[in-house]
Amino acid sequence: MPPELSIVVPCFNEEDALPIFYDETINILKANGLDSYEFVFVDDGSTDGTLEAAQAISDKDASVHFVSFSRNFGKEAALYAGLAKSSGKYIAVMDADLQDPPSLLPKMLCAVRDEGFDCAATRRVTRKNEPPVRSFFARLFYKIMGKMSDVPIVDGARDFRLMTCRYKNSVLSLLECNRFSKGIFPWVGFKTKWFEYENVERAAGKTKWSFRKLFLYSIDGIIGFSTKPLTLVAILGVLAIFMSFVFIAIIILRRLIFGDPVQGWASLVCLITFFSGVQLSSIGICGLYIAKIYTEVKHRPMYIVKEEK
Ligand code: UDP
Ligand code: MG
Repeated sequence: MPPELSIVVPCFNEEDALPIFYDETINILKANGLDSYEFVFVDDGSTDGTLEAAQAISDKDASVHFVSFSRNFGKEAALYAGLAKSSGKYIAVMDADLQDPPSLLPKMLCAVRDEGFDCAATRRVTRKNEPPVRSFFARLFYKIMGKMSDVPIVDGARDFRLMTCRYKNSVLSLLECNRFSKGIFPWVGFKTKWFEYENVERAAGKTKWSFRKLFLYSIDGIIGFSTKPLTLVAILGVLAIFMSFVFIAIIILRRLIFGDPVQGWASLVCLITFFSGVQLSSIGICGLYIAKIYTEVKHRPMYIVKEEK
């Protein structure tokens, strides 16, 4: 018999947070009479004792399974592996640091089991306790993404979700290796109920997202879910051609009216540097798409499993 609820948890260097997470979550499950559960911890190539912590919990509780990667493959790969291994009727995905409050689980399960939704999703309505620079860039990212993306990307949406089996299978059917969950979840469709909550601080350990990692992740998101940058580049090129027609007309008229042949060295340099910049950045944008095609066509596995239980 499959368990009623699977809880998938990607973990990267979470040896301190994992036991606290397990205790807290199990208390909530028990308090709500949810005895048919399973945990799937995915150790994403941690360099600390995360795997040992997962093993210890699994030795105590037979409903706890784990997958351990041969190295760090990133949260997206860990999510995929966890979803693929889970066998529950309903599947929840949450972080190991208790920033996704387990107290929401019963309500989310209710929405999916009794109210006809295929997914219960969560969104953070505050960003307090976050560095202001990070909040600023996060907001900017959601603004850009909102304009560019072909699917709606919700500001502050977390990966904390609870879903039905058919929703999970749809997510698993997307086999791209450049994964961006914030786009994949809305892309698969179905009816989703949103839950909002205030930002919570990490229970232990520290965030795994450096500014650089977040920046690269947001580029993955834009490239993965929109081809608008390519359209913009093409439009920019056409505008530049029109601009050059205007310049040519001005130069010819000036030559005819004033007859001054050698002038405009400074403006020439400005134009050359400006258009070199436009060309290089346009080639760069096309290059980003080509790079993604290149990594996709290699068909490498998303992750490599070292051991599992
Ligand atoms: N995580 C992961 N692989 C990574 C980075 C993060 O599995 O390469 C996990 C991490 O252990 C945590 C979740 O993804 O359970 C969210 O990470 P974190 O809490 O660092 O992100 P934040 O909440 O600060 O956005
Ligand atoms: Mg966190």
